[in-house]
Amino acid sequence: MGGGQLGRMFAHAAQAMGYQVAVLEPSQVSPAGQVAERLISKAYTDPEGLAELAQQCVAVTTEFENVPADSMAWLGERTFVAPAASCVSIAQDRIAEKRFFVECAPTSGVMPAPHKTIASHADIDAIGDELLPGILKTVRMGYDGKGQVRVRTREDVRAAFDAMNGVTCLLEKMLPLAYEVSVLTARGHDGASVVYPIAENVHRDGILFTTTVPGPNVSEACAKQAQDAARAIVAQLGYVGVLCIEFFVLQDGTLVVNEMAPRPHNSGHYTIDACVTSQFAQQVRAMARLPLGDVRQHSPAVMLNILGDVWFEGDSDTPREPAWDRVLALPGANLHLYGKDDPRRARKMGHITFVAPTLKEAQDSLIQACLILGVGV
Ligand code: ATP
Ligand code: MG
Repeated sequence: MGGGQLGRMFAHAAQAMGYQVAVLEPSQVSPAGQVAERLISKAYTDPEGLAELAQQCVAVTTEFENVPADSMAWLGERTFVAPAASCVSIAQDRIAEKRFFVECAPTSGVMPAPHKTIASHADIDAIGDELLPGILKTVRMGYDGKGQVRVRTREDVRAAFDAMNGVTCLLEKMLPLAYEVSVLTARGHDGASVVYPIAENVHRDGILFTTTVPGPNVSEACAKQAQDAARAIVAQLGYVGVLCIEFFVLQDGTLVVNEMAPRPHNSGHYTIDACVTSQFAQQVRAMARLPLGDVRQHSPAVMLNILGDVWFEGDSDTPREPAWDRVLALPGANLHLYGKDDPRRARKMGHITFVAPTLKEAQDSLIQACLILGVGV
């Protein structure tokens, strides 16, 4: 389900293992649609499209977090579907997701940020001082920092809530972050689970900028706490497939669980070039009900997201191809482009992972790549 880059990289991994892939995606041209054996160009809720997918596939998964959970449930009655619709629907709704994290806290040992549902002006009047300053987030359909507004006062919350046309939101307390990490996990149909090395993430303008593994700031104790928390969360969800959980590490060292993605994740792209089993190959194994693969990382790695911005020089609005020849001359460079032919600013076009014998060498290559591409380091 879904035709984006995550589906494209899943298809590559599935095809490498001899499987064929069908993609249900409304657009005629898409990153995954270009590489799949079959493309069903229909809406995610189209009964004919869903019937065709169920009939053609021995297993169905999603690469798109906001896939209608009802469609996943319908497919789940006809073929093997993972993750289950019930898990997808929790991750799609920030309120359900936060509630679930609170329920997990006794075993996971981590809590989400203090928060409150904002569905009306009366809810805004009742906001306690302890939640401000905060971030108002739409409950549904947020990604890459979209549907989020930073707020200092109740008046700010009211203005932001009205500007979002009164859709239900969640107000989260703004926390003093030291850094951000994510933990990629996979759980098989037999309940066996694996946890990848913890990844340290830097966001820019709400979009993932770099992922570094091992994370330069991550202590052994923090890594263990986050990985244990992730294990507890996937087990409590009864999840099958690849799941990524994002955490904040606060300035006093406290670990806070932020959100989860019921699919491979941008911060897990480094696994393609730096781990024995990539997150996409892992998803294929989970779908095929095969044993999960070795998550060992064989090289330190840094991943740089490539946004459409690097196609544009200065203020020019005429795109030109970035200097891939110079980027690929850097040691340890692995370029992945998603086959999107219209570069737009802030659009994810690809990523580069630098692997090297030492993290320092990988980071040096990343700095050079940023200079070549005109991205501020
Ligand atoms: P994505 O889907 O790209 O991960 P998103 O739009 O779903 O992002 P979040 O992950 O909740 O949204 O927030 C995006 C970024 O905003 C976080 O990675 C973090 O840098 C910052 N942020 C979010 N919530 C808080 C908070 N409560 N306190 C401080 N910073 C926050
Ligand atoms: Mg996030």
